[in-house]
Amino acid sequence: MAARDLRGEVAAYIPELARVDPRQFGMAVVLADGREFATGDADVPFSIQSISKVFMLALALGKLGDTLWNRVGREPSGQAFNSILQLESERGRPRNPFINAGAIVTTDAVLDGSTPREALGSLLRFIREAAEDDRIHINEAVARSERATGHLNYALAHFMHAHGNLRHDPDLSLGTYFHQCAVEMTCRQLARSGRFLMNAPGAPRLVSAVRVRRINALMLTCGHYDASGDFAYRVGLPGKSGVGGGILAIAPGRASIAAWSPGLSRQGNSLLGTEAIEMLARQTGWSIFG
Ligand code: GLU
Repeated sequence: MAARDLRGEVAAYIPELARVDPRQFGMAVVLADGREFATGDADVPFSIQSISKVFMLALALGKLGDTLWNRVGREPSGQAFNSILQLESERGRPRNPFINAGAIVTTDAVLDGSTPREALGSLLRFIREAAEDDRIHINEAVARSERATGHLNYALAHFMHAHGNLRHDPDLSLGTYFHQCAVEMTCRQLARSGRFLMNAPGAPRLVSAVRVRRINALMLTCGHYDASGDFAYRVGLPGKSGVGGGILAIAPGRASIAAWSPGLSRQGNSLLGTEAIEMLARQTGWSIFG
């Protein structure tokens, strides 16, 4: 096999992320029986970015149930994470909760009856409980950096507001969204926080087993933007990536896996992180396809 260039590019469109040293790599795995394995920079905090969309989706489904699906779909988009193209023809209803437009609607839904501070408080409580770690926090500098350069996200939010699919002032929904993306975790914390998606006997039960399956289905089909099919093909596990270079992948009933390396593919997924999870899946035989 020809050597692949796995360096990639850091997410330079968020200035705070552009400063991260791209040569880092970490990985952590928590098994269903509670055993943990970690390697490399597994204790270095990084910006989880879009991985936060999984936790916000779990909160939104808990709050609204299936009515959330009136406002956001469950289909892969085949488009870039920040694309506005489909929103025009689909009248402001985003394809799924893991592209930016869908995540902004999901966050807007969680804001119903809450202030941004309360919604973010609920999100942090959920993540901390999932990881059993109260140190997990939001990096304000990253949130500010995103707000300062988030013109595409503003465009998405205003577009959806015009179509009646954003109920709050776009500044409020986006302020909350930028802060959720700025949650910081280490690989070890992220792998622990993913245990609730494993449906394993010892893992924290924050969401019903049926809902866990559904969130995993969305991670498999939509978790890596326009490279979701490729991740499913290569890895065979549900996963969610973020432009900070993190990936959370779930081997149902077996393991929660976190990998991090800041160099990204053209689609915004960690190159080395994907490679590492692919190797792990190959060597362990973990796959949802038997
Ligand atoms: N905060 C990022 C954005 O809105 C999230 C994108 C990602 O992690 O894929 O652009």
